[in-house]
Amino acid sequence: MTPILEVEDLSVALGGRKRWIGRSIPPVQAVRGVSLAVAPGEVLGIVGESGCGKTTLGRAILGLQRESGGRILLDGAPVSGLAPQAARRARNAIHYVHQDAGASLDPWWSIGRALEEALVVQGVRDRAERQARVAEVLEAVGLDAAAGRRYPHEFSGGQLRRVALARILALRPRIVVLDEPTSGLDMSVQAMVLTLLRDLQARYGLTYLFISHDLSVVRRFCDRVAIMYLGRIVEQAPTVRIFAAPAHPYTRSLLAAAPRLSGRRVEAAPALQGEPPSAARLPPGCAFAPRCALAEDRCRAIDPPLAPHGATQVACHRAAEIDPDAATTPGYATALPPAG
Ligand code: SF4
Repeated sequence: MTPILEVEDLSVALGGRKRWIGRSIPPVQAVRGVSLAVAPGEVLGIVGESGCGKTTLGRAILGLQRESGGRILLDGAPVSGLAPQAARRARNAIHYVHQDAGASLDPWWSIGRALEEALVVQGVRDRAERQARVAEVLEAVGLDAAAGRRYPHEFSGGQLRRVALARILALRPRIVVLDEPTSGLDMSVQAMVLTLLRDLQARYGLTYLFISHDLSVVRRFCDRVAIMYLGRIVEQAPTVRIFAAPAHPYTRSLLAAAPRLSGRRVEAAPALQGEPPSAARLPPGCAFAPRCALAEDRCRAIDPPLAPHGATQVACHRAAEIDPDAATTPGYATALPPAG
């Protein structure tokens, strides 16, 4: 089956042109050589610490961020490098749900007006058609028709998530980029949002890119997961595989910090130490080396490519030595710095 979305060797550099006291500020390599493919109807989770580039990757896929290298394909056809109007047309199939659902709404506009306006911008001229679509999507997200006459401040956080979803559903998307869709919500509202997303996916045949740092939500919701670290995908695998047998030292440390999710298999992985290096001044070699208990000389010299490793793709020189199915990782016990 042709993937609905492909990203090939994508790079995004941010800033880097300003001068400050006569010195150039180097660009931040927010996304570095990312490749992925998403099948129609699939949910791909993109996971990593804050600043890892996952939101920038989502914005580049949407065309909101210019890529500095690589390309993006929809249904096998490139959408990178097109003129702005053609790019907008090509990317009409992809829409974005912002993590702050209320921030994308004008406080002075009723919800009905905001939803209709999105359709006007998309070129739906017929008023009756616009109103029918607005009523349909409000019903689809579980809001009654009267919600269209209310204003953003009259909705709770969970209801605003519903409104945000209604707004993009009205535009008939095929791919939805969900940026931290459950952040800031309590557990019961989170569960409600995830159930709603599942229902909408079934009803409209949607494909999701699910950007999150919340591993428990990702485990419940995603079919496949890509783990990002400092702009690169360091591991990619089906969700079940990632959580049962993580193969990259970074993934193992992430899961070690959440033993409830990982079980006993990664108990030997050390928790993450320190902060990631600046994306504007990446060290040579593997960017995870300064925090990796398994780092050796070649790690500090050569950046490992993402390569198949059993059922997983991993970017690690020592992937072959790590048995992801094992309860312990050889080398961790001696590689860890002495306590104290
Ligand atoms: S390449 Fe080396 S430093 Fe990077 S994750 Fe693998 S073992 Fe650690």
